[in-house]
Amino acid sequence: MSSPVVAMVGAGQLARMTHQAAIALGVELRVLCDEGDGCAVRAGARRSPGSPGDLEDLRRLAVGADVLTFDHEQVAPEHLAALEADGVRLAPGAAAKLMAQDKLHARRELSQAGFPVPPYVHARSGADVAGFAERHGWPLVAKAPRGGYDGRGVFGLEDVPGAERALAGHPGGLLVEPRLEIERELAVLVARSATGETAAYPVVETVQHEAMCRELIAPAPVDAERARAARELALAIAEHIEAVGILAVELFVTPAGLLVNELALRPHNSGHYTIEGCVTSQFEQHLRAVLGWPLGATTLLAPAVATVNVVGREDGSDPAGRLPGALAVAGAHVHLYGKPARPGRKLGHVTVCGPDPTEVRRAARLAAARLEGTQR
Ligand code: ADP
Repeated sequence: MSSPVVAMVGAGQLARMTHQAAIALGVELRVLCDEGDGCAVRAGARRSPGSPGDLEDLRRLAVGADVLTFDHEQVAPEHLAALEADGVRLAPGAAAKLMAQDKLHARRELSQAGFPVPPYVHARSGADVAGFAERHGWPLVAKAPRGGYDGRGVFGLEDVPGAERALAGHPGGLLVEPRLEIERELAVLVARSATGETAAYPVVETVQHEAMCRELIAPAPVDAERARAARELALAIAEHIEAVGILAVELFVTPAGLLVNELALRPHNSGHYTIEGCVTSQFEQHLRAVLGWPLGATTLLAPAVATVNVVGREDGSDPAGRLPGALAVAGAHVHLYGKPARPGRKLGHVTVCGPDPTEVRRAARLAAARLEGTQR
């Protein structure tokens, strides 16, 4: 029997780590890769040349593949619809995919389905923002509906002139919401298979710095009732949108309870701790789910797991040159993505598992700081 072929749009670190899982399962991962970002190809994934904006490139990627999946959200909805019309099996599927691409669309869908989301408005003018501020007060937070990540595309609004300046750069309008009192940020990963089987991972705390996720703490330090509610919420969303593959649900803990911030229908940064921290990594689980195979156990393998991202320094230096220092930290599992080092870019991560939450966090931070060159 020939090995199954999974085609993935994108060749970044998520594709790279999916490829690692694919090797173990004997699955061939074929990735769409233009000239620029090919860290999955450098790790041995098969390259299908082209760009996500070109329908013919996407069609070529899909030829002979069992399923087509994604490591980012940059495929135009009309291309997805065309592929589906060709008979290509898409995971997460066109409907779910459309939702995840546009923050406004996703917010509207979730809100209409009764899931708890922050108050929001689709603001196209200063007057729209002023009207919203009358009800919710200043300051507000504005988000570009498309293309933002790691906090790029998220900015504060202090007054109407500021809102008008922001809108000038976004002719389609902005998603505007109150600046929330966030007690904690959580993420729940769930997998939903092509057969409808589901599995939820433990709730993880995501710690942000300047709107970029820097650390993951599993299990999240929340009481059992809140953890249960978060997992149930994520599972209900996965069912509602009929996701296939990994779905990451980002949540805010606020005085008003849990609010859904956003969704990602693919492996996600908040799930990197699962590689060493859980029985089945999110990448293996994604492959199992999109191929319609039985899902794996999501149980934690240690009482405490911490993951710290490695972010590019201002001097543009490559953390790979500082690897031995990080490897000297006991228990540190280092992942470097093989991407060109650029300031503010996620270049890798470190995971430490152990009995004590404080200790695993300290060790993961130390190893990541050594890679970043900020600590010896
Ligand atoms: P991105 O898609 O770029 O990650 P997010 O919507 O997840 O954007 O926002 C990034 C971070 O900004 C969040 O993790 C949170 O820390 C902060 N943030 C987002 N929305 C709000 C808000 N309404 N109030 C306060 N902080 C927010």
